[in-house]
Amino acid sequence: MLQITKNLVNRTLKRNFGVSTGLTGSQVQSTTNNTSIRNRNQYNNKVKHNFCHKRMSASQSANANNMKRLAGKVAVVTASTDGIGFAIAKRLAEDGAAVVISSRKQKNVDNALAELRKLNLNVHGLKCHVSEAQDRKQLFEETISKYGKLNILISNAATNPAVGGVLECDEKVWDKIFDVNVKSSFLLAKEALPYLRQEKGSSIVFVSSIAGFDAFELLGAYSVSKTALIGLTKAAAKDLAPEGIRVNCLAPGIIRTKFSKALYENEAANEAALSKIPMGRLGTSEEMAGVVSFLASDDAGYITGESIVASGGMHARL
Ligand code: NAP
Repeated sequence: MLQITKNLVNRTLKRNFGVSTGLTGSQVQSTTNNTSIRNRNQYNNKVKHNFCHKRMSASQSANANNMKRLAGKVAVVTASTDGIGFAIAKRLAEDGAAVVISSRKQKNVDNALAELRKLNLNVHGLKCHVSEAQDRKQLFEETISKYGKLNILISNAATNPAVGGVLECDEKVWDKIFDVNVKSSFLLAKEALPYLRQEKGSSIVFVSSIAGFDAFELLGAYSVSKTALIGLTKAAAKDLAPEGIRVNCLAPGIIRTKFSKALYENEAANEAALSKIPMGRLGTSEEMAGVVSFLASDDAGYITGESIVASGGMHARL
């Protein structure tokens, strides 16, 4: 459904690409011998203390390194049986979270679960079309019945049923794009909130796109829907910040998935796409997953309302 058509690529290529010790000075100075000895003892104690403290810090950080940063967390990732969503689910689980995966087709869920379980990852999965209210309800109910809580929501699903300029978009197509890409993300966040509120340090990550910053001419409506997600991130982050719930966004550039296949499957398309990317290569789903894992973790504990562009240097400004 997300796949970019060859027709789109050809038109896009033409139009877009153109072929210390811690002692202060006063602590180490003295005017009498007694004071000098007392000060020296104080100095030695302080040095010892600092040394022990440093050793403790080193061993503490060694423990911290061994501890997975999402250990004890439960995450729901939508549209996670393939592409970026699958890589996110895998990475969150590798980083210690219990992860609930989902997509529209049960067969895809089963295949993805089998692949992840082969890696001994703690995952559960079910069918969930993000536009279906009953599916979303089931998604959260099963997460709670299986794992007892929810700490992280990653809203990753999107659709792009048609190509063309924004004002050429058919109303039905516009509604479909906004239903899946924007309204479902809004509803998923709204429905996850009662569970997220029960846990400390909960977080939401929406998956937008570089197109949300700088509209792709022939992905007009899709681009606008992705801009809306950047707005949703900012608005929800402000609302939820006093409760300690963080809301952030990932904006991928061109990533090697089925969705973007037409942009790299033939040499001309590949070269044209690469010419727009300062790093000279497409991104990988794993690179997107790393950003999401960071955003969902306590390492990003003071980051909210942000959209991280991961695009190999492609221009992004809103
Ligand atoms: P993808 O490789 O085509 O994977 C799509 C995944 O979404 C599949 O698991 C699919 O499984 C599932 N899915 C599709 N529609 C769904 C729906 N309505 N409800 C639930 N699951 C659904 O796509 P991708 O490239 O990883 O894209 C993932 C996200 O990244 C999207 O939000 C996309 O806009 C964004 N993005 C991608 C790129 C890129 O270059 N690839 C760039 C910028 C942004 P089923 O078929 O079983 O449903």
